[in-house]
Amino acid sequence: MIGNVTQGSLEEICEKAVEKWGFERQANHLQEECGELIAAISHLRRKRTGAREHVLEEATDVKIMVEQILSTFTKDEKDDMLKVKLTKTFKKLVDD
Ligand SMILES: [Mg+2]
Repeated sequence: MIGNVTQGSLEEICEKAVEKWGFERQANHLQEECGELIAAISHLRRKRTGAREHVLEEATDVKIMVEQILSTFTKDEKDDMLKVKLTKTFKKLVDD
């Protein structure tokens, strides 16, 4: 799945990160990364050079931190919420 990551999957690495640094610290880190992504998207809207790559970088940071927070929920909790949210998105797609 991820070529150079040999020490574990995204899920495994994220679980280990939350175990090591704790939920509170990683939740704070997620907030910071969300702020960086918001700034990167602003730069993209202003058509700054390199903004697209910056959005990719910050969106990936957010994805990793979100995965860490989600690793503290059960599979059933995550699956149930994903189903609810995907259903809403699907309804919007059909209704619009
Ligand atoms: Mg970042």
